[in-house]
Amino acid sequence: MRTLSYSRVEMSQLAYPEGNMTLRRSRTALVSALCATALLAALAACELPPPERGFVSRHEQPAEADRESADFLKRSRLVELVTADLNAYLDVPHRITVVARSCAGEGSGYDPRTRRIELCYDDLTEDRNLFEEADGRPADEPLAEVVRETLHHEAGHALIDALDLPVRDRGRAEEDAADRFAQLMLLRDPRGDHALLTAARAYDLAAAADPAPDPGDEHAPDPARAESHRCAVYGADPARHPELATPPRADCPRTWTTTRETWTAALTPLLGK
Ligand SMILES: [Zn+2]
Repeated sequence: MRTLSYSRVEMSQLAYPEGNMTLRRSRTALVSALCATALLAALAACELPPPERGFVSRHEQPAEADRESADFLKRSRLVELVTADLNAYLDVPHRITVVARSCAGEGSGYDPRTRRIELCYDDLTEDRNLFEEADGRPADEPLAEVVRETLHHEAGHALIDALDLPVRDRGRAEEDAADRFAQLMLLRDPRGDHALLTAARAYDLAAAADPAPDPGDEHAPDPARAESHRCAVYGADPARHPELATPPRADCPRTWTTTRETWTAALTPLLGK
């Protein structure tokens, strides 16, 4: 049986668009009061309904083999932090559920029919192994950064869908735009550059481990995705990253400006707070 667990902190404080705070707080208070009185009689019926708009996180029970990755995600609260970050910036008029689950190798992704982002425990295990084999030490920190990048990439797909942007359903163009959304979001955070560089390294490690790209994969090849992230990090602040300066990256500041302006303009309908 799948267990739904909506995080209490996100339900009450983080995930609601501010405009609806009062209404939702009072509804939460009412449900909490009712639940308190009926606690012994009907514990199971007291689960709060998920919010109707914005990004909402959920953790499913893992397959036995994925237990360690599922525990890591719960412990780190990464899904809750990323959804809170997205909700603080954007007011999406419908619910986008972000589900952490065992996918048996299907791969993390966004499903427009159900408006669900699926983050696969098994992907995390794979990424952890790549880092631990390369570095010979526990990889909690790089793994957390890769998860943040993955969640923002998938959120990019969800927003391309919500806004019906011109790249929607255009394969590689949509994938590239989703990567640029991850860059935009992560580079709003002063430490997001590190997360993007770690994600770039994960693409390099994956390419080294499996150099033949899957011909059915609509994403850019891993080395191109890695370079796109490095170009964004360098372009956003060349003085902060002199180590990334190379002649081919001379255009990166201009590329970054285009990324920021294009995505910010596209998001305008959702910025109304
Ligand atoms: Zn994608």
